[in-house]
Amino acid sequence: MSDVSLKTNKLANFINGEWMEVESSKAVINPATGEELVQVPLSGAKCVDDAAAAAKKAQKEWRLVPAPQRAEVLYQVGYLMKERKERLSQLLTMENGKVIEEARGEVQEGIDMAFYMAGEGRRLFGQTTPAELQNKFAMSQRTPVGVVGIITPWNFPIAIATWKSFPAIVAGNAVIWKPATETPIMAFELAKIFEEAGLPEGVLNVVFGAGSEIGDAMVHHDDIRVISFTGSNDTGRHIASEGGKQLKKVSLEMGGKNAVIVMDDADVDLAVEGIIWSAFGTSGQRCTACSRVIVHEAVKETLEERLLAEMEKLTIGNGLNESIKVGPIINKAGLEKIKSYTEIGKNEGAKLLAGGYELTEGDNANGNYFAPTLFTDATADMRIAQEEIFGPVVSLIPVKSFEEAIEVNNGVTYGLSSSIFTNDVNRVFKAQRDLDTGIVYVNAGTTGAEIHLPFGGTKGTGNGHRDSGVQALDVFTEWRAIYVDYSGKLQRAQIDVD
Ligand code: NAP
Repeated sequence: MSDVSLKTNKLANFINGEWMEVESSKAVINPATGEELVQVPLSGAKCVDDAAAAAKKAQKEWRLVPAPQRAEVLYQVGYLMKERKERLSQLLTMENGKVIEEARGEVQEGIDMAFYMAGEGRRLFGQTTPAELQNKFAMSQRTPVGVVGIITPWNFPIAIATWKSFPAIVAGNAVIWKPATETPIMAFELAKIFEEAGLPEGVLNVVFGAGSEIGDAMVHHDDIRVISFTGSNDTGRHIASEGGKQLKKVSLEMGGKNAVIVMDDADVDLAVEGIIWSAFGTSGQRCTACSRVIVHEAVKETLEERLLAEMEKLTIGNGLNESIKVGPIINKAGLEKIKSYTEIGKNEGAKLLAGGYELTEGDNANGNYFAPTLFTDATADMRIAQEEIFGPVVSLIPVKSFEEAIEVNNGVTYGLSSSIFTNDVNRVFKAQRDLDTGIVYVNAGTTGAEIHLPFGGTKGTGNGHRDSGVQALDVFTEWRAIYVDYSGKLQRAQIDVD
């Protein structure tokens, strides 16, 4: 099905512009077939020390390269990614399982981010502002933080890395990147692209290895001043508390419990399309996946019927096959978690309308497949309506009014993404004001972010930072206020004012 090959059976770390092999390694498994794709290094903490030393040295020079020149490397990265889009997409499907159409979309996100952030090389705007004293000039500018660490999850192995590494690099930092152990191939490929694009040695370093070893060593390393993390809440909380002890800047993007609201005046067919795409795309393994549908009771039955009809059309299998709509679950542990939530839902009294089982036969026998699953008559307080399942499981929660829908949407600890289907303009404006999530969609599903807008969530989803958009620069830069006094005498602010 695929014509791409890695040309190696073992990946290597990329430190100081060199490919460094590590003795210990682990198999990377294709979740669609159960086959081994490659061995990923299991590095030790010493590799983080080496990467940090290389990054520290490289950053001293890199920060002095004019930002428009730093950006030239990102333009080159964008061109190379574009040239290799199909190769990257196929490898992404093989290591992650998402269907090829979505993999192409993810790679495109990375390409877009390269060109967008390269543009920042000619902006990186600061402010000039009047000083309060005569013959004095005042301005502020972004300065790089130094050496930054990025830790990324398996579910978007290339897009999220570009949301973090591209702004960090254009802003003049050096990067150490620890990718998820499940999906290291995208990191290997992107490092090769950076190398070919002419990034000076040491500006980007990739260290493979277990989170508990490499991630932890990064969080505790004195020379790494920023940790930008995307992943689960448990890991994020741990990183925040450990990073906090050292006063590191820590950016966290974590889980979601995203809802689509379907009002009584909605275009139900459009809502069904939005739900199918948001709930079952990437097999529900997106941070923005729709796992709750808050439906007005007046359209509940119609919605159920039409959803079931569309779910029947979903083809499940190896995502390299263009006709497949739902790919596998990342690993056996993920599969077990999804199965256990299906049981929890049944025991809590939600009604299972479709799915709820693993697929183990025929072409699906060797992969990790779970049938798209629909519960109805769930209540807002049930665990299946509160906790992140990270699989193709969606629960319908009936409500009686717009106000109740907003309350149910906001009644979870997460705050990433929400959506409302309505044709009432007043409801649209009230919803965008009152839905307590970092991303709000109107008449679209809960997924579909564009890279030039800030991406991230409120409440338990994050800690106030954003990936992508110009806001992505914030965690990787410090604001410097600069005063130039050209009066030739000492002027004391707030004192020598007439
Ligand atoms: P995870 O288990 O927390 O892993 C994320 C990354 O953290 C991996 O690289 C992992 O390494 C590393 N890690 C694990 N333990 C660590 C430690 N003690 N110290 C430092 N790093 C450590 O999350 P995941 O299962 O990969 O990703 C799924 C989660 O990510 C979901 O909750 C999803 O909602 C969330 N997510 C959020 C966003 C967003 O923008 N809000 C986007 C995508 C995903 P190993 O791979 O070696 O374990």
